[in-house]
Amino acid sequence: MAKNKPSVNGNQQLHAFFQGAVVPMDEAKVSVTTHALHYGTAVFEGIRGNWNEEQGKMFIFRMREHYERLIRGCKILLLDIPYTAQQLCDITVDLVERNGHQTDIYIRPLAYKSAEVVANLKLQELASDFTLVTVPFGNYLGTDILKCCTSSWRRVDDNMIPTQIKSAGIYVNSMLAKTEATLAGFDEAIILNQDGHVSEGSGENVFMVAGGKLHTPSLEDNALPGITRETVLQLAQAELGLEVVERSIDRSELYLCDEVFLSGTAAHLTPVVELDRRLIADGEPGPVSMALQKLYFDIVVGRNPKYLHWCTSVTPRVVTV
Ligand code: PMP
Repeated sequence: MAKNKPSVNGNQQLHAFFQGAVVPMDEAKVSVTTHALHYGTAVFEGIRGNWNEEQGKMFIFRMREHYERLIRGCKILLLDIPYTAQQLCDITVDLVERNGHQTDIYIRPLAYKSAEVVANLKLQELASDFTLVTVPFGNYLGTDILKCCTSSWRRVDDNMIPTQIKSAGIYVNSMLAKTEATLAGFDEAIILNQDGHVSEGSGENVFMVAGGKLHTPSLEDNALPGITRETVLQLAQAELGLEVVERSIDRSELYLCDEVFLSGTAAHLTPVVELDRRLIADGEPGPVSMALQKLYFDIVVGRNPKYLHWCTSVTPRVVTV
């Protein structure tokens, strides 16, 4: 089987939620005339299920907040799906249980223009649908420390494509930046906005430690309101007593600060040790990054009772064949 087409989990056939029902993954297929395929008319989420081996349970991190962001995206793109955030959470728990993964997973909901219409740019006329898949998912960035470059691509502006939601089409921007960075031998791109301020990574928010405070670009600089970003902002204040500042950040500030790290569901919290071939401080992950990373890794796998309300635990249903 092709490596990027997972449809089995051990002996177990993976299922998808598709057209209102749970079906074997191989049956969840759309037509080549599907509108979203041609125009990127979809919004999606990336949610992590973190496997806790000792407890034999999957912990889904901040699922509700992900679905609230998906629903905000549906509103902007006139994607009419017949589910509330709570119903989407219930559908997800059911599918995760059923797929029976016993490893870290990525949960990928997608609300999309399902109309089989090739030439129509009027969102209000196009039928929508919702689908959901879960797949095993390990270390997204493939490394624990990052060497980044500043991308020659600029982050789209909110008045070009809304930047507060995860629309499929906007990821052309992210992919151009990520591809450029990785083809040039870097791990990830730091993308500036139209004004030349730091916006974010290709799929992560950016943080900087400087002057004893934690800084991150404000949402006005077209950063996605990341759920991990919000988690980090809360933890830095509540657990490390750090002052946090959301403001515009210049590229050269990143060169000269004490620590840089990226945050994202896929990327977790990952230190940046080099940017544009300049070491960040001494080129080693810094103490704030590591303290936040440790807190975060315990929380997402359900090991910190104080933050258990951020996790939804699911016990996999194992089917013996
Ligand atoms: N920015 C972009 C462009 C992203 O795709 C992501 C991943 N969703 C993030 C930031 C981080 O967001 P989150 O923490 O919600 O995963």
